[in-house]
Amino acid sequence: MTVSHWQRAEQIEREIDFLVVGAGLAGGAAANFARQVHGRDVVVTDARDVALGASGRNAGFMISGLDTYYHRAIEEYGHEVAREVWGMSLRSFRHWREFIKNSPFEVPIDNGGSLLLAETGEEAKELELAARALSKDKIDIEYYSRDPLNRGFYAAIEQPLDAGVQPYLLARTVMAQSGAELISNNELYQLEHKDDFVKVHTRKAIFKARYVMLCTNAYSPMIDPYFIGKVVPTRAQCLVTEPLDHVPVPYCGYSDYGYMYYRSTFDGRFLLGGGRKQHQSEENDTLEDRLNPKVHAFLDRYLKRYFPDVTAPVAHRWSGIMGFSCDGLPLVGTLPGRPRIGFAVGFTGHGLALAAAAAERAVDKLLNGVSAGAVDVARFA
Ligand SMILES: Cc1cc2nc3c(=O)[nH]c(=O)nc-3n(C[C@H](O)[C@H](O)[C@H](O)COP(=O)(O)OP(=O)(O)OC[C@H]3O[C@@H](n4cnc5c(N)ncnc54)[C@H](O)[C@@H]3O)c2cc1C
Repeated sequence: MTVSHWQRAEQIEREIDFLVVGAGLAGGAAANFARQVHGRDVVVTDARDVALGASGRNAGFMISGLDTYYHRAIEEYGHEVAREVWGMSLRSFRHWREFIKNSPFEVPIDNGGSLLLAETGEEAKELELAARALSKDKIDIEYYSRDPLNRGFYAAIEQPLDAGVQPYLLARTVMAQSGAELISNNELYQLEHKDDFVKVHTRKAIFKARYVMLCTNAYSPMIDPYFIGKVVPTRAQCLVTEPLDHVPVPYCGYSDYGYMYYRSTFDGRFLLGGGRKQHQSEENDTLEDRLNPKVHAFLDRYLKRYFPDVTAPVAHRWSGIMGFSCDGLPLVGTLPGRPRIGFAVGFTGHGLALAAAAAERAVDKLLNGVSAGAVDVARFA
């Protein structure tokens, strides 16, 4: 995005201490840590408003770990990294629950855990291996070699520490509790790194900021070329039905390797999301936030197949853009050669599991140079 010569007349110049760009879950968490832990004077800016990106559009699953089963994460990243990232998700949950406890308004959360379900015999074998790896690491789970829901699944893992939350209200309370000044409708379009400050060109102001933290997730490649190929914008689709007279799934349910997800909402509806695996060429690498009729037709068929008792009509459909990282781990660091510009992005569909802990590390890295561990982009060096 750019700004025209004529629009520049509107911009004021302003000196600030710590600027967070992006008012989603990651931005809200970063604003809290910067202000309350590190005592910085924080301003948050967003192109739109609080939680209008993925943070207010997701399914609200607080599911531990990455978007790959635990034994696969061990194979891909090594045991230490898999364990560390799992720990980060538990830390994020602690942070979110603390925000919910201290919220000035009610944020619904269902602490009933989650169920990872197998849709095929092959996936059941994967779940069994995942269950063994989790148990070996003393992670509290239960494995079922049958379908605890009696809906045609093959096996399941129950993760009792997981939860389902109202994500829009969570993101709003996190931002509110930061106490940071929020400037909405204020898109960032250029960053100029100087020795002692960063000149940040936004729609309403040109900031001279000591530190800048980018929490712009899927949109990061539009902001700086560093993120091109590292963060891939990826679209997701969801629907909810009219209220039901029963609860089809008492948990957050997650199957087909996480490509499908379903839960009951706090107002008694059924939420179903996913269908991306079958339509990757259209849903991957796009910033276009729109419904995909083919994915929604797939969701409708899926609903009939696995949840025939959910006969209430679909009340609402929506989409959202996630930021997938190139190696599946969040990206935390500072821009190469620009140590005053930090970032916490690329949550690969698991922002509720990872964004709070990643933002916490990102702020520490930016202000104190502390390594962000497994999620630090130093891994690419
Ligand atoms: C349909 C769907 C379902 C999902 N389900 C789950 C789930 O159940 N569990 C889970 O853990 N995760 C889920 N996710 C992913 C999760 O929503 C994200 O990982 C998380 O919200 C990322 O938070 P964020 O703050 O990094 O990004 P965002 O919430 O996207 O925030 C980025 C912000 O940056 C702002 N921005 C961008 N560019 C600029 C700019 N140039 N200037 C100023 N501001 C800018 C945007 O307006 C936006 O507000 C889902 C996502 C979708 C779309």
